[in-house]
Amino acid sequence: MKDKDTFDMMFTENRLKTFKKWPYGAGTKLNKQAMAAAGFYFTGNKKYPDLVRCFVCLKELDGWEEEDDPWEEHKNHASYCQFVMLNKKESEITFQEMQELEMHQTANYAKKVLSKKIEEFKKQSEKRGKL
Ligand SMILES: [Zn+2]
Repeated sequence: MKDKDTFDMMFTENRLKTFKKWPYGAGTKLNKQAMAAAGFYFTGNKKYPDLVRCFVCLKELDGWEEEDDPWEEHKNHASYCQFVMLNKKESEITFQEMQELEMHQTANYAKKVLSKKIEEFKKQSEKRGKL
């Protein structure tokens, strides 16, 4: 169910590669290395030029300000995130912890897909006047 790209985002190096059109420079707290290390990968577009997503909780954040600290923002907006709770650099993460993160990622992805389907179902039902 989960696509290969989502799995690839487990690794900082792969997340880093997604920040091609990232609007913040190397001299800011929001440099792409800091963003990738905080668990984010770039999913932005024209409408949301600084939209990123966490590889574990899949939380999406945008509207960054230069004084923001990506790790602190991640903690503030998704304290339940398993990557936030683990609070380790990739180099310190054990193989077992990596497997656990992957499990959480899969579960969160499934939840996200499911809640989207439920939303669609509700909309359809509303259209038919059943809710
Ligand atoms: Zn997260």
